[in-house]
Amino acid sequence: MTSEISSLIQKAEQVYKQNFPLETCFERAIFFSWGCTIGDCTFCYMSTQPKDKKPQETKRRISSILAEFILAKNLGWDIGFFTGGIGVFSADEISLLLKAANEIIGEKIWLSIGPIPKKTLLQYLPYIKGVVGSTETINPELHKIVCPSKPLAPYERMFETASEFKLLKAMTFIVGMGETHDDVKLLEEFIKKYQIDKIHIYGLIPQESTMFQNTPAPTAEEQAWWIAKLRIAFPKLDIQCGIWEDRTERVSLLLKAGANSISKYQATKLFGTKVSQDIEAEAKKAGRKFLGTLTKLPDVDWEKEVERLSLDRKLKEEIKEKLSIYLKKMKENVNKKILLTQNENQQNFKL
Ligand code: SF4
Repeated sequence: MTSEISSLIQKAEQVYKQNFPLETCFERAIFFSWGCTIGDCTFCYMSTQPKDKKPQETKRRISSILAEFILAKNLGWDIGFFTGGIGVFSADEISLLLKAANEIIGEKIWLSIGPIPKKTLLQYLPYIKGVVGSTETINPELHKIVCPSKPLAPYERMFETASEFKLLKAMTFIVGMGETHDDVKLLEEFIKKYQIDKIHIYGLIPQESTMFQNTPAPTAEEQAWWIAKLRIAFPKLDIQCGIWEDRTERVSLLLKAGANSISKYQATKLFGTKVSQDIEAEAKKAGRKFLGTLTKLPDVDWEKEVERLSLDRKLKEEIKEKLSIYLKKMKENVNKKILLTQNENQQNFKL
């Protein structure tokens, strides 16, 4: 690491410490579908999917969505946002899902479903604390290349409406798609102009069959640079860093650079595995207390968690079924890890 980056990160860490407790957590983005009506962002996995599948055919079962909310709540994960394809569910259906999510989580949530028109935003108002604009990058020329059918202007209008409704505003930024360090000025102006409260700083995941398939993922230092710059410029900004299972070793650096929380990691699938243990260890290395858990299943009466909800009987039974599938896999991971650790300890003892 160059001395320039090292001193930038040190400064950002100081700013973080002056403004936030020494804690961090995992934030789960919960998807209600796997389809997307835009489908041509040039970095995105969805752009490589067959175009003949109707978005409505990509919806997740409601029981599976709500089971994931129950899991997240009980594992101490924050909800990064509720998200999914435009046009998959009607506004009335989304409202019902938001209402159920509020009941499970006990609070309003972030919503990320593209640019939401004023009338629809008004309908969601009782259930959401803020809106996320998936802006991805801020350089206008680069934006045209990476999001040809997802211009920034409708998101800008949504942010203005959100301010009118006193909602929080979040945006996304992907490091590694061709931005330059000069673009940080544009990003800072955007954050100021729309009074952005939270930013998700992801690193490019080079997807096969996209224009980025041979582009190297951004280094830890590069992702940390963007976080540190924003932390120093906006001491109170909520900054979330996106990681991936092959990038856990960068978590401590990103936290030191001033990130508040961690996301974009397959926490349910990888619960209790070595990668999850590494993330918790990285948080500790950065001097942060990790809130919630990625590794230990808490003692929860899951049936009771479902029964207390005001949902119909059939849906409750389906949620219980879904929960038991998730929990079975998570328990298997935890037990496998315990066995592995025991074996490793025995090997070390023999040595
Ligand atoms: S980035 Fe979002 S809007 Fe663009 S294709 Fe992917 S899912 Fe759709």
